[in-house]
Amino acid sequence: MSELRNEYLAALGIPVWVQRGGKADATDPGAPGTPSLDDLAAQVRACTRCALHASRKQTVFGVGNPSADLLIIGEAPGADEDRQGEPFVGRAGQLLNAMLAAVHLARGDVYIANILKCRPPSNRDPKPAEAEACTPYLERQIALIEPKVILAVGRIAAQWLLQSDQPIGRLRGTVHSYGTASTPLVASYHPAYLLRSPLAKAKAWEDLVLVSRILNDPS
Ligand code: URA
Repeated sequence: MSELRNEYLAALGIPVWVQRGGKADATDPGAPGTPSLDDLAAQVRACTRCALHASRKQTVFGVGNPSADLLIIGEAPGADEDRQGEPFVGRAGQLLNAMLAAVHLARGDVYIANILKCRPPSNRDPKPAEAEACTPYLERQIALIEPKVILAVGRIAAQWLLQSDQPIGRLRGTVHSYGTASTPLVASYHPAYLLRSPLAKAKAWEDLVLVSRILNDPS
């Protein structure tokens, strides 16, 4: 199915279903299977589910290895990401890349996405209704990527994914379970917070070691 047709159907609110390894059939929304990541990205580009579509420069779907073992989930695009259409490309992104390198992972080895695919004005916190509207896209991304472990960076992402109101200092340092696939989830500090509070880097390092341990667990 052409990307343009996907975008058109998504703009009309018509679900586009793709059979895994098969052909898309938008005329049969009850068909089994899920849209591919490319189909989903096209749907996100046409998304008007919340008011953020009006102020975005572009959507920020996600980037990286589509069959990554590690999926990193942040909060929402900032100004740099909104401009470039890619998550974590600003100063926080540079620190994230350095943190990954410290555990011998390149940015291209992992997949990086956010709770929200559009930038909230002035980088304000996402509203629950915005996160709610965007979550089906993230859930579909997770189902397609099937990561071995999810790393939620920052309070907003961790609290939303775990449906918890505990502070990030309480959520980090242990392995949680996400979704029906019971994917191991580790919460840690947001790289932007680490830029402001370098002393917290030691704890973020512990969290990364925990992630590495799960990634390297042969079972
Ligand atoms: N902060 C986030 O949470 N995500 C980005 O993509 C950039 C900054």
